[in-house]
Amino acid sequence: MTAPPRSIPPQTALFDRAVKGMRARLDEAEDERAVYAALRWGAAELDRTYAETPAKVRAVVACRAGCDFCCRGPIGVQAHEVLLAVDHIRTHFPPEEIVAVIERASAHRRLLAGPGAEGDGRFVQPCALLRDGRCSIYESRPEICRSHHTSDAGLCAARAADPSVAVDPAYIPALRARMFAVMLGIDAAMEEAGFDDQAYDFGSALHEALTNSLCAHRWAKQQAAFPDSCREDHFDERAAGEGLAGKP
Ligand code: SF4
Repeated sequence: MTAPPRSIPPQTALFDRAVKGMRARLDEAEDERAVYAALRWGAAELDRTYAETPAKVRAVVACRAGCDFCCRGPIGVQAHEVLLAVDHIRTHFPPEEIVAVIERASAHRRLLAGPGAEGDGRFVQPCALLRDGRCSIYESRPEICRSHHTSDAGLCAARAADPSVAVDPAYIPALRARMFAVMLGIDAAMEEAGFDDQAYDFGSALHEALTNSLCAHRWAKQQAAFPDSCREDHFDERAAGEGLAGKP
């Protein structure tokens, strides 16, 4: 007796497509430019996935241009996302704006390293790349920035007004599952290809990458791109040590 054909869940197909597309490009990459082109393909794949999401699901999204509530606080990323952002900054920003970003990223890093900054949920420092309420590296923004959506911007506003209060982020499960499948596919392909797969705090790693050219060099050599002080779990461990773990 033949088993009936089983359909592949859409998230699995999206994950597989992202892994396959990234791996093909990374395997063929002969220089650093080609690796960055693969990263841009991954970013475009996330945008394609959003555009191909059924209209009735997208209709629920409350996020709009100029709404920047989610561009605050620590943001977890992998090294390739930081270096894609830095590539964008170095290509498009004038020198004085690069200096300003370094200063803002430095302030973020200093504040986040302060006592209890992340663990009590009150760390709401705006992203160093937020400019006039908009993302200044929009085409090269990290994967989580492309994947985060809410159905109720009012809840984001409430959280921004009082970060110590736990607020339901009103995620949209049908959209979140699709975007996360692609995001995980991109990251899995980078890991399979041998690149740094640790989770870093975006602002801290951004500051390090903009002030230390060895980061990109180490990453290209498939070594850990950033020091432990930029790692996301560095802050988790510190929060646990301060007795703050588990708080929103
Ligand atoms: S990179 Fe852009 S979208 Fe992401 S948090 Fe920063 S300003 Fe917002």
